[in-house]
Amino acid sequence: MTGTVNGPVREALDALALVDHHCHGVVTAGLDRPGFESLLTEGEAWPGVSPFDSPAGLAVRRHCAPLLDLPRHAPADAYLARRAELGGAEATRRLLAACGTEVFCVDTGFAPEPVTVPPVRHEIVRLESVAESLAAGGVEPDAYADAFRAAAQEAVRRPEVVGVKSVAAYRTGFDLDPARPSGAEVTEAAARWLPTGTRLADPVLVRHLLWTAVDLGLPLQLHTGFGDNDIRLHRVDPTHLTDWLHLTTGTVPVLLLHCWPYQRHAAYLAAVFEHVYLDVGLTLHHVGPARAAAVLAEALEITPPRKLLYSSDAYGLAEFYHLGALAFRQGLAELLQQRVDAGEIALPDALRFAAWAGRDNALRVYRRLPRTPEPSKV
Ligand SMILES: [Zn+2]
Repeated sequence: MTGTVNGPVREALDALALVDHHCHGVVTAGLDRPGFESLLTEGEAWPGVSPFDSPAGLAVRRHCAPLLDLPRHAPADAYLARRAELGGAEATRRLLAACGTEVFCVDTGFAPEPVTVPPVRHEIVRLESVAESLAAGGVEPDAYADAFRAAAQEAVRRPEVVGVKSVAAYRTGFDLDPARPSGAEVTEAAARWLPTGTRLADPVLVRHLLWTAVDLGLPLQLHTGFGDNDIRLHRVDPTHLTDWLHLTTGTVPVLLLHCWPYQRHAAYLAAVFEHVYLDVGLTLHHVGPARAAAVLAEALEITPPRKLLYSSDAYGLAEFYHLGALAFRQGLAELLQQRVDAGEIALPDALRFAAWAGRDNALRVYRRLPRTPEPSKV
């Protein structure tokens, strides 16, 4: 069974101050049952069916209840009553303290409230938000390309910004022409899009956004795979990016987020492209600690250990910061310890790989992150 693997790898992972390279804001205000349940699922809350009856909901009752002084598996009603009794701020404090994450890289493009409790917070700029603010402010189609570039450069100039992100997955998917669009193409597309006042979903402008991201020179996060019901899952298989990755080789690090159920596809890309990395954030708390090792095992079948990063992708519920970190530590420890016990890898290698995935790979990729804690020496 999972969750029972102890040993030096688990001890090392439990002691490791994680770098969470992709997360969102947390709601610190009190949440009523509909409010909590709506954040517990990536889908809608369905009449007569509680999102607590899901892998994530069961994991909350199993692993978060004790942090609120409740027994394991406390019923949902008891959990929510105790959470309300403590207050949202205290519940958040306890859950965030338990996650053992030292550095948070927060996507501020989609955040209910800023993360305020974590000690070290850095920012990821969502480029679609930059483009949409520019459009809302008014810009002529033939000035759009230069104005977007200038706005993006301005947005990343702030010292707390360590990288950028695109949600192209939500807007067009990845089955795009990989080439950089010409100036004339961008002007023509901007003339179509700007008067609509809608969110950015034009394929030419999404391509232009991705290439502008490359020009910025900072690590680029791409949502891939799993997400809410706004996603068309078959269009967000990261292998659609293969030709674009050929064209962008030698430029910026590309970080494939979430990936499920395409973690093997993402792992392939990370194995063959120097600039590609992946995580299985969001997936970890939705499959729960009980299945985290299985997902991580698929991600690590072929991924070089230098290419896996930790993220929680927690959004809204403080529970998800704790569950993401717990599932990562437990799942990775389980699979690495098994390989040590089977004599497939040496313990020092397992300990190195654990520190790389939980912290050091992120410190290596995000060059603007402070150098403390110092990455372990290779
Ligand atoms: Zn996210």
